[in-house]
Amino acid sequence: MNEFNHELTRRLDAIREQGLLRELRRVDSPQSPRFEVGGRELLNFSSNDYLGLANEPALKEAAIQAVERYGAGAGASRLVCGSLAPHQELDEALATFKGTEATLTFSTGYAAAVGTICALLGKEDIIITDKLIHACFVDAARLCGATVRVFAHNDLGDLEEKLREAEREVRSPKSEGRSGKRRTLVVTESVFSMDGDHAPLREIVALKEKYGAWLMVDEAHATGLYGANRRGLAEELGVSERIEVQMGTLGKALGAAGGYICGSRSLVDYLINRARTFIFSTAPVPASAAAATAGVRFVQSSAGEERRQKLWQNVSRLSTRGGHNVSPIRPIPPIAPPTTRSAIIPIMIGGESNAVAAAAALREQGIFIPAIRYPTVARGQARLRLTLSAVHTEADLAQLLTALKSLDFSL
Ligand SMILES: *Cc1c(COP(=O)(O)O)cnc(C)c1O
Repeated sequence: MNEFNHELTRRLDAIREQGLLRELRRVDSPQSPRFEVGGRELLNFSSNDYLGLANEPALKEAAIQAVERYGAGAGASRLVCGSLAPHQELDEALATFKGTEATLTFSTGYAAAVGTICALLGKEDIIITDKLIHACFVDAARLCGATVRVFAHNDLGDLEEKLREAEREVRSPKSEGRSGKRRTLVVTESVFSMDGDHAPLREIVALKEKYGAWLMVDEAHATGLYGANRRGLAEELGVSERIEVQMGTLGKALGAAGGYICGSRSLVDYLINRARTFIFSTAPVPASAAAATAGVRFVQSSAGEERRQKLWQNVSRLSTRGGHNVSPIRPIPPIAPPTTRSAIIPIMIGGESNAVAAAAALREQGIFIPAIRYPTVARGQARLRLTLSAVHTEADLAQLLTALKSLDFSL
């Protein structure tokens, strides 16, 4: 045992030396712009709760009601006996919201990605991913055993090259896929989690169709924020119906927890039969599903539209007041057009230890923005990932700008 702990301590020391040590910070209040961390009130600019729904009365009430009516736990996986009314209602509410034939919810977005990709692809298939894709797809790609090809971030020329290569390989008679045909799946996020930039979805859709590939789009940071019905960036760009697999999470703008896959009835029926993270995992607690359903309904309502407008107002305010260079690497225009604006604003730092020091300096000024480092982003690309919420006030933004300015963050 001593030897075991000694080894792990040594590994932790190595992580610390690289400025990469991660630690938990206890939060003693609900998720909201001002929250309590380690006995101090800090202004939170790091949450993915973009619409301020995590602490919204309608969601809390729905969770409480679900506990009263259905108890604390689900008792088993959904296929055994845990598919309670709140889970079924959530699936239905999401399909209606997203305008797809069907939806299947998972306990997390991570589980949705891993379960779906491993159900769709085997070792004879090919998966083509954007370089900056979320870790859940990196893991899913490894686990499914398919050949992995990575295209340079948002680089359509490189994607086309990878598709061309894949088409050649898929045609080769070497082996056959599970249905007698080898398949290629392209995976991208619509709004990238650590950079806030957008994928050129229209062009990606055109390319995957040209080469007969399938497409999976993760709208984790877009659901609730883009499109006439706030379904996501695919809706805003008019390509939803041409995407085979639409994925998202219920834990970000939707204010609760869980992951979803939207698409055809046959996709969902197939996942119920083949997605191992769905089949072999206990159903989420009923409170979680009920809160998520309330989140979906909130986003669909006029209050949801108001929140979204508030969020974009805050984004514009910050970029106009701050001038053009919020981030030295990715300039953001003062008022971004609807398809490029983003609630995620990275402040690039570079060195891991410098980023940690910058985050600590901001905390001293009452601002909470943790440093994002390897392996979440590439080495040497550490950053402060600043996120805005619809419920930040003008005073909150003013305090942020003062703090950033005093630390010389090119604002
Ligand atoms: C957060 C996130 C996920 C995972 O979703 P969870 O519900 O938190 O497990 C997947 N993809 C992206 C892009 C994310 O940012």
